[in-house]
Parts: sequence; C-alpha cells; structure tokens
Amino acid sequence: MRIGIPRALFYYQYFPFWKTLFEVLRFEVVLSPPTNKEILEQGTKLCVDDACLPIKVYHGHIAVLKDKVDMIFVPRVISIEPRKYICPKFLGLPDMIRNSIPDISRVLDTELNLYKGKYNMLNHVLNLGKILKINRSRILLAYYKAIKAQMKFEDLLIKKLATPQELFDKKQNFILESQLLKKHTNNIKVLLLGHNYNIYDDYISMGLIRKLRKNKIDLITTEMVEKKYITIGSKQLSKDMFWTLGEKTLGTAFYYLENSKVDGVIHVASFGCGPDSLVGEILEKKTKKQYKVPILYLNLDEHAGESGFNTRIEAFLDVLEGRKYLEDNLSAHG
Ligand code: SF4
Repeated sequence: MRIGIPRALFYYQYFPFWKTLFEVLRFEVVLSPPTNKEILEQGTKLCVDDACLPIKVYHGHIAVLKDKVDMIFVPRVISIEPRKYICPKFLGLPDMIRNSIPDISRVLDTELNLYKGKYNMLNHVLNLGKILKINRSRILLAYYKAIKAQMKFEDLLIKKLATPQELFDKKQNFILESQLLKKHTNNIKVLLLGHNYNIYDDYISMGLIRKLRKNKIDLITTEMVEKKYITIGSKQLSKDMFWTLGEKTLGTAFYYLENSKVDGVIHVASFGCGPDSLVGEILEKKTKKQYKVPILYLNLDEHAGESGFNTRIEAFLDVLEGRKYLEDNLSAHG
C-alpha cells in the first residue's frame, strides 16, 4: 500500500520519523516532487484566497500526490512541544484539504499534540496503528526505529550545520557523514530565520540558501541550534511566547545577537502570516536598535519576482562585507 507524504510544511521537520515509521510497517512512501511552478499554481487555484503561501503550496503537493497513492498523510498538528502551540492553520489542515480537494483519496489524519508531554508522540503513533489495523508490537518497533532516525537527523543538522536537503540523497536516505561537503566560507555569518517550510523550499524561497552558499556565507538556521541556546535567547522576551515557531525564531536571534555571533540577519516571512508579522516587528526593532546588526526582511508570496529578490540579497551581502572588511562602523540600516 502506498502512503503519500507532501513535500511541504512539516515534511522539513519530521520526514525522517514518518518515512522510517511507514517503511518499517512495510508501506511504500511516495513523496511529492520538490515544489515547482505547476505545484504552486495548482495549490493557489485549489486553496482559499486568503491563506498564506505555505498552505497554498501544501495544497499543490496534495494535488500532485492524490492519484498516485492509496492514502495521503495529513496529520492534524496541534502542538509539537510541551506547553506551546503552533499556528492554528495546522490544526484545521485535514478539513481544509478535504474541503478544497473533494475527490481526494483517503486522508490519514491522526492528531499530533505534544502540549502535555513528549510521550504523546507515542499516542500519535498508536492511533495511526489503530487506523491502519497494525498490532501494537509492530507499531512499537516501528516507533523506536522512527525515533532513532529522527534523533540522528536533528543531531546532524546541529553537528554539521547542514540543511535538511544536504543530509539526504535523491532517494531521501541519509548520506554518509563523510560525504557531507565541507563548507568553505568567507567568515561572514548570517542568521537565516523563518519557518523551515519556507527557507528550505528552494522554489518558494527562490533558491535563497543556494545563493547564500554560493556567496560562501556561513549560515545558521534555528534547526542548527541546540534547544538550550534557544531557551537562553528567549529569556530576552518580556513574556513567554506560546507559539513554538515564534519562540524558536526569536530565541535563536537573541541568543546569537546577544553574544555578537552574527554579522547579519535575514528574516523570511510569508505574506498573509499573522505570527510572522508580529515576530518580524519584534525582531527588526531589537536587531537594529539594540544590537545594531543589519537585517534584511524578505516577504514571500506567489507573485514575488526573483530579480528584485536577488538585487536585495546582493545589496545586503555587500553591506555585510563592507562592515566586516572595510569599515566596522557602517550603519546597520544599510
Ligand atoms: S505560521 Fe504563518 S506561514 Fe505558517 S502556516 Fe501559520 S499562517 Fe502560514
């Protein structure tokens, strides 16, 4: 039996877990192709107009998969860590998909809610087992293997300062650690902030990571930072932030900025995203006024043009280079 997984949203966070789980249970995992023009157009057509870009892209990936698989995995994600929530759009995603794509094949939509504790990941998997009619011992074995794969993934992102794509081969298996390319950088360190489903999607981010790597930028994303440092950074906030994704972004930013560990910050936001606009505002104020580090704010939507995007990135990198190697005191405002 084939299970489809859309290469969007939480694919960038949990794919090693879900892939291992389903494969150990002897399902064939079918991943949608990387986002392209057709996927984006399909998603935009199928999805409600006022949704954010990543949700539209997700619809496009479902459209590509729907006739190729027996069921599509669309988890109802409520919380991914204790005492925190994520954006409500994830909660309603399975209903949204059923509503927007009426002829869709079976949707596998178990709830993922870690608000009360990480052990709830096991409940999520046991529920999947019940729906798929698999006995408990097989599910438990698959669960432990999946956890191991996920830990390896998260560990490598931090240890190798790698992006998820850099860790996998074309068949989405881990490449050998010795084959991970050593990065030659020009010692300019940039903090790249934003939702992983935006920054790591090469099409919707218009190849941003490729461009930064090509310019030999030393890149840090929140996935490359240990949780303990994010927690230290988030103590700078006047109130506890109850959104996981916002806390990750700001905690990472403040930890690195407080310790003078970066030359510049790029914040990638989605047009139509409420949490992004709030996080962006806090970040921009603090980065410029308190830390005096240049920040580039990039807003993604389905109409964004690549040439303007490239010009802004190039100009920003010029500013960083100037500050680093020419005059240390150039303005943080570009
Ligand atoms: S956090 Fe923002 S970008 Fe992500 S799904 Fe919610 S509204 Fe969309």
